[in-house]
Amino acid sequence: MSPAPDPTVGPGPFDPNAGPDRVGGAMTIAVVPHTHWDREWYDPFQTFRMKLVHLVDGLLDQMEQDSSYRHFLLDGQVAVIDDYLEIRPENEDRLRALASAGRLTIGPWYILMDEFLVSAETIVRNLQAGIRRGTSFGGVMEVGYLPDMFGHIAQMPQILNEAGLDRTVVWRGVPSTVDRSAFNWTSPDGSEVRAEYLIAGYGNGAALPKDAKAVLRRLRSLVEEFEPFLRPGDPLLLMNGTDHIRPQPWLGSVVAEVNGMQDEFELSITSLPDYLDISPVDGLPHVAGELRSGARSNLLMGVGSNRVDVKQAAHRAEHSLEQLAEPLSALFVPVGAWPAPFLELAWKLMIRNSAHDSICACSADDVVDAVLHRYAEALHIGTGLTAEAVTAFTASMAMPGVMVLNPTSHRRGGMVEVVVTAAGQPGPDIQVVSERAGLPGSITLDGTTVKNMLGLIQGSRLGHDTYVTDVSMAEDESGLDISIVIGTEPRDGVPVEEVKRELYTRLTARPETEVRLALEQPPVRRILARQSPIAGFGWALFDGAPLSHPVRLLDDGGAGGSVTLSNGLVTVAVDAAFGTFTLNGLPGYGRLIDSGDHGDTYNYSPPLVDTVVDTPNAVAVVIGDRGPVRGTVTVTSSYSWPDRVDGTSKARIGNHEVEVTTTLEVRADEPMVRVHTEFVNPSRDHRLRVLLPLPEPSAHSAAECAFAVIERGLTAEGRAEEAPTPTFPSRRFVSSGGLTVVHAGLLEYELVDIERGTDGESDRAKTLALTLLRATGMLSRLGMTTRSLTAGPMTPLEGPQMIGPVEADYAIHVGDVDPFELVDQVQTELITTTSFGGGGRPAEGAALTVHGVEVSSVRREAGLVEVRVFNPRAHPTLCEFPGRTGWLVDLRGLPQSPFEVSFELRAFGIATVRLNEE
Ligand SMILES: [Zn+2]
Repeated sequence: MSPAPDPTVGPGPFDPNAGPDRVGGAMTIAVVPHTHWDREWYDPFQTFRMKLVHLVDGLLDQMEQDSSYRHFLLDGQVAVIDDYLEIRPENEDRLRALASAGRLTIGPWYILMDEFLVSAETIVRNLQAGIRRGTSFGGVMEVGYLPDMFGHIAQMPQILNEAGLDRTVVWRGVPSTVDRSAFNWTSPDGSEVRAEYLIAGYGNGAALPKDAKAVLRRLRSLVEEFEPFLRPGDPLLLMNGTDHIRPQPWLGSVVAEVNGMQDEFELSITSLPDYLDISPVDGLPHVAGELRSGARSNLLMGVGSNRVDVKQAAHRAEHSLEQLAEPLSALFVPVGAWPAPFLELAWKLMIRNSAHDSICACSADDVVDAVLHRYAEALHIGTGLTAEAVTAFTASMAMPGVMVLNPTSHRRGGMVEVVVTAAGQPGPDIQVVSERAGLPGSITLDGTTVKNMLGLIQGSRLGHDTYVTDVSMAEDESGLDISIVIGTEPRDGVPVEEVKRELYTRLTARPETEVRLALEQPPVRRILARQSPIAGFGWALFDGAPLSHPVRLLDDGGAGGSVTLSNGLVTVAVDAAFGTFTLNGLPGYGRLIDSGDHGDTYNYSPPLVDTVVDTPNAVAVVIGDRGPVRGTVTVTSSYSWPDRVDGTSKARIGNHEVEVTTTLEVRADEPMVRVHTEFVNPSRDHRLRVLLPLPEPSAHSAAECAFAVIERGLTAEGRAEEAPTPTFPSRRFVSSGGLTVVHAGLLEYELVDIERGTDGESDRAKTLALTLLRATGMLSRLGMTTRSLTAGPMTPLEGPQMIGPVEADYAIHVGDVDPFELVDQVQTELITTTSFGGGGRPAEGAALTVHGVEVSSVRREAGLVEVRVFNPRAHPTLCEFPGRTGWLVDLRGLPQSPFEVSFELRAFGIATVRLNEE
């Protein structure tokens, strides 16, 4: 969106000597014509696309006919090219001609994404897709253009460097310490880019008048505004365009006219790279890490909790593609069957959804519906490819039996649910979910009955967990013998239909014959059990390992005590008075705080008169599983939540009774508690957070962001127009004060309950608040307590109120833990599958071993297994691929250096390798 120039803030006191020296010559004004194209936002994609087609139609004519309109920046994202060509395929050569001549700059991104709310892989794939597509137009703009993103991740300089880019352009998030129009920006690993700072946004030169004198007046006023950021001799960047704006046909002539009438300024219509070539590089301020300041422009931090359903859908699709479909296909599907077209389609959907207005969901309800649909389709592709890869793995096994597959890079065991033959009493280390008796051995039927029954059997599936796994037929003078073996897993190649046809033929010939049916179906049990640790990307036979820390119900609440589950590693006791629980002796977990939110899709804003509901009216506790493998307890708390914020009184009014159901789950041998909360949201204009006490008060949080764990304090930087609300995003986990929370798409957290020290330095938070829901009713709004101006159109919306079912999943761990291992354990279940043998794969092994780093991606590129790893730690690490050789490649796939077995990866470094075939 277009920024309003902000006269109230600046880098410091005005210094008359700090301005550009215009005595020695004219000041260079680089005019970069462009449009900022939010592909979908307050209007749906197709509506904006129609405008885009008209814009590009006009642009092509203009540029072909008017050589003075020398350059156009097509917003740094290739998506607009594809969107245009879908309607105007005949104009591809015209676009290509302008791009090849250097007059039209496209890319490098496929789309201008949000950096905090999508996965690291989505950001990388976006850049790669943009560069790949842009190459067919003669190459992309070699500038990591980031004009409108709602803040910037710490690792962005490194991502850009890894793709061969050392310059970027940013606006939002730049901290108050930057007092120049550019700064050097470094990632935690030391990677550096020169960042051009769009002081007043990307529209400071939008809508230039036709009249040269009026342009001159505008320039003088702009220079005055920007003077504090400029040094003598600095050129000024004039971004001639803004949101969805068409090119101005008179630009060439008015620029020539202004140049002809004065010596103060020398204007040129140019490209962003050409401007950057003449802009200063020496003596620039230095900024390290993420850019999340609201000191100069709106950061819009509330987007992380707006439309939590979209964030959860993103999480599910990312997990399915990145953690399951890609690695399992790369490692277990034959090279020639790598499902590239499916994955390309899935990633195109993911990348389109990563657009800042799409994943942030600060958009019309139609747009958000489309976003959810794209995520659903990407998830369906991920789920289907995962199933196919597991089938390929199963078929490759040499031995028959129940196999367990670990799809993650960390060696680990875990709970599995399998169906086994029910022989004797269940052992002490398993938990029976259901049991089914065996069938009688044999029965004799007459031919007519059997003939009538044949139509009822379709294929080999007889029912849930019931399949014909073998069938055969024999015939003699006395009758027909059919033997059927029934098992719990489907088996390929069972000749059910062939035997049916043959039986039908024979019964037609001998209708009165006797049919002797022999059935073999052993009694079975569906059980929960624990699998011993399996190598990363490895497999083993199901072993039903002994439980070192079985789950016990220590107290069933019967004698007035609290329902208490423990496995010796973690103890959870429900407090029936408040609906909260005690974790390892520390009370107060799971307390729900419902308060008003009279903000919009961009920012949280408490109503003038708030009502906070933090105590349930009634609590019911129900014990579910009692161990030893899994224990669960369900807490249902009834609350009275206000209906909405009244527009006149700005107070919460009305009332709804709501039941919030929270299930706590403890598994054997696991040191954390899993939490699932669900309710049907009846209320508008409110925010629901769950409070999680910190074992130790803390002044810091450490949250996962792309390729890193980012340390943050208790405060944020803001300004009068946007309050510094210290809510922060975390990707999959956040830690503070000895607590680690792993969540599935609950991206927003805040450290609260602050114990003030004697000075600001010693403030400590005692609680982490995790946002479960933020429900508002306006795309944007005026006059909020946390943001004074609008951030988009003032459109009423129904979707962001989130009326209807809401679910939230997270897990809590107290004490030291490797958060990446915890994430794998919580979010990626071990996979079970039944093999019938016949392949060549041994009963135990690993398809890929990686040590010393975290794995971000495993896929195939150019026929080879490609692995992207990162080192989230502050010291160099040895990244090992035992037994393997390969090449380090950059994000364009260009080989950098070969390696054998291992290489050193710098602190906080990212590396991509292609492994030679074994
Ligand atoms: Zn935008």
